Amino acid sequence: MGLIEHRFNDNFLTTTVDQFINWARKSSLWPVTFGLACCAIEMMTTGSAHYDLDRMGVIFRASPRQSDLMIVAGTLTWKMAHVLRKIYDQMPEPKYVISMGSCAASGGVFDTYSVVQGVDQVVPVDVYVPGCPPRPEALMYGILKLQEKIEKQRYIRKEP
Ligand code: SF4
Repeated sequence: MGLIEHRFNDNFLTTTVDQFINWARKSSLWPVTFGLACCAIEMMTTGSAHYDLDRMGVIFRASPRQSDLMIVAGTLTWKMAHVLRKIYDQMPEPKYVISMGSCAASGGVFDTYSVVQGVDQVVPVDVYVPGCPPRPEALMYGILKLQEKIEKQRYIRKEP
């Protein structure tokens, strides 16, 4: 008992609620397992042992109800748009979206009636990762940018 009492005498930690919540959220982003087209192959590669997303706290989940990040990887058609939106709606708040690749950002080369010309027409996008397809390093950079965004969120506001 005496040992524990004196063990942390010279240590203390200060933080704010905002910083603590943001640190917890950015360090445990769990993307829902969901891929649409060729970009999804790069997304899967990013999750492989070589790139090791786990070290960033990013662990793919098979259920939207356990996920707080959606990576829209690939071409979204209008036929699939309602499915994507339903999965997004099933994710608990707070939730984030990364648009991966030219197709997700703007329809890419598929300037046709059947392809959604930007997934922001279906779900709100936090970070865009450009490329056709983006390399795993680019997706990891996008995740880092999302973490920076989460770091700046504020929950506790001072009264004016
Ligand atoms: S951006 Fe390129 S790689 Fe990605 S889904 Fe579209 S065509 Fe495929």
